[in-house]
Amino acid sequence: MRQVAAYYGFREDRKHLCLCPFHADRHPSMRIYPNDKGFYCFSCGKGGDVITFVSALYGLSNEQACKKLIEDFSLPIKTEFDTYREKREREKNIKQQRELDHFRKYADVTLRMYWILLCEASRDPEDPHFEEAMQEMTITEYRLQCLHDDPAEYYADRKAVKKIGEIRDRIDRWYRSDDDQRSLSG
Ligand SMILES: [Zn+2]
Repeated sequence: MRQVAAYYGFREDRKHLCLCPFHADRHPSMRIYPNDKGFYCFSCGKGGDVITFVSALYGLSNEQACKKLIEDFSLPIKTEFDTYREKREREKNIKQQRELDHFRKYADVTLRMYWILLCEASRDPEDPHFEEAMQEMTITEYRLQCLHDDPAEYYADRKAVKKIGEIRDRIDRWYRSDDDQRSLSG
């Protein structure tokens, strides 16, 4: 505790008192106890162990405060404070984030490809895809906009996700003969 307080700039007087960072302290009123027994402020009543001290000082969670101490003091400790559940939770979040990221890229490429095809078709009323272009261009732009505005919300919408798959199929069939002109509206 003393080492930590000194490292973060707290000067103890002979009675092991220093200025308390948790209230407007003019005369040292925070005691730092020997043998790693923590700290206590006689003015504002704030007290605790070294982790409480660092987390309150920097506005961190206890876990973040531990990590900060490990870094600042180059402690040879692997960060394994997390309980098993926290670790699982974090892995799950990372996996979900990756899935979302993957979907976002896939959907973006799909919608853009489709939009380009529609654009081309819209220039020529004789184009076999002209009507489809008239029908689908605006909604495709709208879908792209939604995807960019909030990919997570888009991904949560099962119908919207299914639609991306259908559009992808539609693109695959685009240059194949006119055997399938099924509309995509809806
Ligand atoms: Zn205080």
